[in-house]
Amino acid sequence: MSLKLACLACGQGNKVPEGRLRASPKCGKCGAMLVPRAPIDVSLDVLQKAERIDDVPLIVDFWAAWCGPCRMMAPEFAKAAQALKGSARLAKLDTEAFPTAGARYGIRGIPLLIAFQGGKEIGRRTGVISASDIADWVGTSTGTTLDGHAQ
Ligand SMILES: [Zn+2]
Repeated sequence: MSLKLACLACGQGNKVPEGRLRASPKCGKCGAMLVPRAPIDVSLDVLQKAERIDDVPLIVDFWAAWCGPCRMMAPEFAKAAQALKGSARLAKLDTEAFPTAGARYGIRGIPLLIAFQGGKEIGRRTGVISASDIADWVGTSTGTTLDGHAQ
């Protein structure tokens, strides 16, 4: 089975055979890694594309440089990205660079994590959480284990 993934760098839609998700697939257009090890900064345009077409769960950290708790959580989010590699993709959206994100996603406070899958929001949580709590929450929201197998 092939999975659709938007490149988090350029927004190009890519198809990846399910078994190759962990084999570092690259974007056919720009060559960026489709399943990065670390959270990728995305633009609002790329996020909206990925949110719509991705078959793999997408977890987005809405943050801002002025937000102390956001900076505190950043290393935890990065650790979670490694733990979840191959079963979910993690991205970051700078709410100062993309101020319209606030209304688009109904953001009341940051850091805010939203999980998307199958073209819709499947979960959100506000506030600082640890890497293992992020991984647990993603597993619960998406119904996948860390190995990427359906429960
Ligand atoms: Zn690309």
